[in-house]
Amino acid sequence: MPAGIYIHIPFCISRCSYCDFATEIYRDNDAVDKYVSSLCTEIQKSKFTTPDLVETVYFGGGTPSLLNPWQLEKVFDAINRSFEVQENIEFTVEMNPATVSLEKLKHFKSLGVNRASFGVQTFDDRALRILARGHDANDAITTFKLLRQANFDNISFDLIGGLPNQSLRDWEMNLDNALALDPEHLSLYLLEIHEGTPLDEQIRSNRQPLPDPDLAGKMYQRMAEMVSENGFLQYEISNFAKPGFESAHNNKYWLCEPVIGFGVSAHSFDGGRRRWSNVRDTSEYLSMIEEGRSPIVNLEEQNEERSSAEFAFLNLRLTKGIDLEAYEARFGRELLTEYSEEISNLAMSGLLDTDDRYLRLTKKGRLFSNEVFEVFV
Ligand code: SF4
Repeated sequence: MPAGIYIHIPFCISRCSYCDFATEIYRDNDAVDKYVSSLCTEIQKSKFTTPDLVETVYFGGGTPSLLNPWQLEKVFDAINRSFEVQENIEFTVEMNPATVSLEKLKHFKSLGVNRASFGVQTFDDRALRILARGHDANDAITTFKLLRQANFDNISFDLIGGLPNQSLRDWEMNLDNALALDPEHLSLYLLEIHEGTPLDEQIRSNRQPLPDPDLAGKMYQRMAEMVSENGFLQYEISNFAKPGFESAHNNKYWLCEPVIGFGVSAHSFDGGRRRWSNVRDTSEYLSMIEEGRSPIVNLEEQNEERSSAEFAFLNLRLTKGIDLEAYEARFGRELLTEYSEEISNLAMSGLLDTDDRYLRLTKKGRLFSNEVFEVFV
């Protein structure tokens, strides 16, 4: 199975009010240099060799677009020295508005970056302030234009719905703004409130209203309609692409293909039974690398049951569903027989649908996906 490489860059200009990722505030270039050197050491010392060529590289975060081109090049060189990277990879960098210049984008492009995952979140300035994003809608539009000027022809927008005080009409206007810019890919999420974040505290102290879950469900349905009317195909619960622009890297997570992660809090999967993850704290990560220790703090060897359940619910996220022949080839069991009672109950409730080859969520099933996944956990 071809593999993907994930690189975590933990630095951000400011801390968004809903964020619970492993990030820290960008201080200066020296701190990033130090982190990049540690990343290269971790990559070079990696004991994991991918069984096949690497076909995707993804810099996520945090805000990887805060790297300068020489830092990005240094990490990419380390990947190329340690792994067999195929020539025409999908090379994605997550970018936030107002963190790149045209010169930097052109330099990124010359290094092989061919996909931008662009953290727009919303075009509503009031909502951007609630989310403490540190940029406004105009910054997002300006940066998008710079991406096009630098010849990025594969741009994905991240948008969040279900925000405090956001009406269905606000969400539709937001989607209209995104669609007017004509990106190739959309990742559309509903807001999750993570315990201990500033937004969680604001909601608990009644300074912001708790988003209405019924309204969020309507937003989800409306977004699926609007984006499909504009030529996007839904290929995963939260992801929509123009034909030919599905994210090859993200597909690896849902298809249970190997993805090896490096950096603070990076998660890895070997494509078989092993998952592992790195320490979440940046200072600890730097010390571990400096002392020649492995930053891996969790290693899970999955048993057969866990592995097949995970394969089932991750593949079910995809619109095409679970490939029943692939499941049988991998685990030596027939999924429809193994879960026959549960699947037939869910099918009678209109949440699952099947044909000779695939078992998939229905449109209604996508709205209640967590209930369906529970059957397999
Ligand atoms: S830009 Fe992303 S990673 Fe950084 S603080 Fe905001 S939500 Fe978190």
